[in-house]
Amino acid sequence: MSEGKETVLVTGGAGYIGSHAVLALLEAGYEVIVLDNLSAGHPEIVKDVLKAELIVGDTNDRACLDQLFSTRNIIAVMHFAAYIVVGESVSNPAKYYRNNVTGTLTLLEAMIAHGIKNFVFSSTCAIYGMPEEIPMTESHPHNPLSPYAATKDTIETILADFDRAYGLKSITFRYFNASGADKSGLLGEDHHPETHLIPLTLLTALNKRECLYIFGTDYPTPDGTAIRDYIHVSDIADAHILGLKYLLDGGKSDVFNLGNGNGFSVKEVIENARQVTGKKIIAHESERRPGDAPILVGSSYKATHILGWKPQYPDLNTIINHAWQWHQKRHG
Ligand code: UDP
Repeated sequence: MSEGKETVLVTGGAGYIGSHAVLALLEAGYEVIVLDNLSAGHPEIVKDVLKAELIVGDTNDRACLDQLFSTRNIIAVMHFAAYIVVGESVSNPAKYYRNNVTGTLTLLEAMIAHGIKNFVFSSTCAIYGMPEEIPMTESHPHNPLSPYAATKDTIETILADFDRAYGLKSITFRYFNASGADKSGLLGEDHHPETHLIPLTLLTALNKRECLYIFGTDYPTPDGTAIRDYIHVSDIADAHILGLKYLLDGGKSDVFNLGNGNGFSVKEVIENARQVTGKKIIAHESERRPGDAPILVGSSYKATHILGWKPQYPDLNTIINHAWQWHQKRHG
């Protein structure tokens, strides 16, 4: 018999986006349990900053899930736990399918066994592959170009099937480029290895790296560098609260892009970071990174109109400023 206050389980809550979602849930008055295997998460963020309950465990561990679901009053699951390094997913796809697909399947089966029917899922714009139209809408064809993207796409298919068969309700968010950090500077991005542009730029500003490489300067864009849609992580977290409430109010399963609608080039990001940090930030031009699209910009019209989502921090300067506060505290 499950007991206690109505609780949301957040898998991967010790990670970048998950920890911001935990903060948003706590601020919205929800009870939260974090489930994280700490393969990439930061336990001190959950315990010391968020002061939330942390269960160290894996989504592939059915016994652990059964124990949690049978003893705690969990009304919904937000699922962030996943491996995310595209290149590694190409060289070691088994690791990605085992965790991102099998782990999620185990989690979903446990939820159904315990009658928990509300699920909020972290997906990615990478399921679309090379854009056929800009901005990309949710109806863009799927063409995942990496095992990482394929794992997310597979879960989206599973979720549609599980709704039909078992009545599992889900909200899926396809993120564009999650970036920034909580305005307090106490939560932020700290991946090992780090592959993303904004944190690499700021680590270079902090002299943690000698220089940065600009991957491709011959794209069909105004300055020749690739354009991405950078969306503040706190705005992503807010969307998760709206998605959760939508489900708890009886809303139907649905899929939403989360992006800014504005694209910025690699050179614009670096220039902006130079202004925010006041540092030189050495950047060398280099070859294109295989698999990168020239432009990825999303339409979030659907999330705006159905969920009432409105990004609070659409400005690139604010995104980089918040990320800089975090990086200085974390690494300075
Ligand atoms: N990028 C870059 N140098 C780096 C890391 C990234 O030029 O050290 C570029 C990358 O090729 C892409 C953009 O910055 O065009 C954003 O890359 P990121 O890895 O942050 O996110 P992605 O869009 O690949 O999910």
